[in-house]
Amino acid sequence: MFGNLKGLLMTFKTTLRKPVTAQYPKERLPIEPRRMGFPMLMWDKNVGEPYCTACMVCIRECPTQCMSANMKDNPLQAEGKSARRKIVESFEINIGRCILCGICVDVCNFDAIEMSYETELSTFVRNGRRMDLRELLERGTGWQEQSGWKPKKERQPAKRGPEAEAKVEEPT
Ligand code: SF4
Ligand code: SF4
Repeated sequence: MFGNLKGLLMTFKTTLRKPVTAQYPKERLPIEPRRMGFPMLMWDKNVGEPYCTACMVCIRECPTQCMSANMKDNPLQAEGKSARRKIVESFEINIGRCILCGICVDVCNFDAIEMSYETELSTFVRNGRRMDLRELLERGTGWQEQSGWKPKKERQPAKRGPEAEAKVEEPT
């Protein structure tokens, strides 16, 4: 008896509660600024070429196999302007299949790819949204300017305060 009444009371309270869901895309809930969006390619402005050498590591590791790339001999290396012997010639990501996992970023040894903030690039056509090299680099350079991004090797290591240093024990 009491159980039934408790159940009815709970149903009544839930009926009066404001909805916690939003009618997307008319309503949008706030998203954290550190969210991961779709991947993009980074531009080495010191040399004037992409960081990507089309080494294929990210393409092999991508769990949804939504990336493809081709490499070519780097003309800037032949002119002595770049240390990269090979450079990306074409690159494509099928955005409809990307699951925003970030594995491509983790496995890249050249700081060539990062996750953007962009999450709303879907279409109503299956496999209808593909980003080519030009678009991936455009998005990457825009984000580099906005965020002051630097490759890992140019980033300063985190400073350790005197207290943190005091805690480091000498090896015995
Ligand atoms: S983004 Fe990185 S891992 Fe992927 S092909 Fe380019 S250099 Fe290789
Ligand atoms: S974020 Fe994940 S699914 Fe998307 S391209 Fe990178 S590895 Fe593939």
